[in-house]
Amino acid sequence: SSHCGSSNSCSSVVSCIAEHGTEAMVGFVGLGAMGYHMASHVARLSGRRCLVWNRTTSKAEQHAREHGSVQVQDLHAMGQARVLLLCLPTSEEDREVTEAVAPHMSRGSCIVSCTSGDPNASRRLAGTLWERFGLHFVDCPVSGGPRGAEVGSLACMLGADNREAIELVEPVVRSFASKIVVCGPAGAGHAVKAVNNALNVAHLLMGAEGLLALQSMGVEPAVALQAINGSSGRSLQTEQRLPQEVLSGRFGYGFKLPLMAKDCSTAESVIRDGFPQASLIPAAVKLVQQAAAEESPEADYTEVVRLLERRAGQELRTSKEAAAKM
Ligand code: NDP
Repeated sequence: SSHCGSSNSCSSVVSCIAEHGTEAMVGFVGLGAMGYHMASHVARLSGRRCLVWNRTTSKAEQHAREHGSVQVQDLHAMGQARVLLLCLPTSEEDREVTEAVAPHMSRGSCIVSCTSGDPNASRRLAGTLWERFGLHFVDCPVSGGPRGAEVGSLACMLGADNREAIELVEPVVRSFASKIVVCGPAGAGHAVKAVNNALNVAHLLMGAEGLLALQSMGVEPAVALQAINGSSGRSLQTEQRLPQEVLSGRFGYGFKLPLMAKDCSTAESVIRDGFPQASLIPAAVKLVQQAAAEESPEADYTEVVRLLERRAGQELRTSKEAAAKM
């Protein structure tokens, strides 16, 4: 059996279709911090051909060179894909790209949004795609950051209206995921992802608030973390983000603050619809939105902590001696 991954035997899209049929075609749009790596795993799938398109074309060129994908010049040509993955900033870009490609796709094919999108927008898009073109839609937001994308160990939260769509996309998604959870109908994945991210940043903010208070009474943040990380208050934020990104002053996790602010707004509307009495997530969301308004658009999401640092009139940076003990 031949192989269409980076060590491919199909030299062109045409010869690949001739050999494997259109089932073999997978498309990827959005080669950003996440998508670039995710598409590299898709390109290595045996018996498939990965078509890539990116707004900034040089990234697609580089991807084809580095990972054996096929750069497509014209966005409409992505319509050859049986499974088309999108990893774009918001549901708005999902809609724009889908509008351009969907009319060129064959019935029964599937559009998969790996974007951290808006559940209501995704439900609407799923309905339109099915009614107008007979296309499936699956929301498949991911968690695990650029590093998780690079090593192919992302957690994926799926929303789909039927089993057929899940079966179509699962083998492709598995190439970059180590965990796949089917959350419910279209939009459910995006709703879970929004709540997940609100929890992520809320834990970060709460950890930073606690450390700022402790620091002002003379406890080194790194020492406090050492104690907390052996205790019941620990989280991913106290174990990794606070020491690696904040105390170090690196602020370079690789997830932009405006994207986190967008996810928080989505979480806010999920909470407003489902549990309007809730108060903790909305409080965290407000801080994130304020931080995003004050920081540069390129700021890392961990820089949300700078807002608290300004309020406290002190920074959470590790002294060299304390870092050596960590
Ligand atoms: P980036 O900003 O790094 O990449 C965005 C991608 O979208 C780029 O390929 C960009 O193209 C493309 N794009 C932007 N606007 C348009 C448009 N109007 N039309 C076509 N393409 C467009 O974002 P990330 O990769 O970090 O994030 C992508 C999604 O994944 C977001 O929804 C984010 O919330 C989510 N996410 C991010 C994580 C992270 O840690 N970074 C983790 C989990 C989810 P171009 O190259 O031309 O700019």
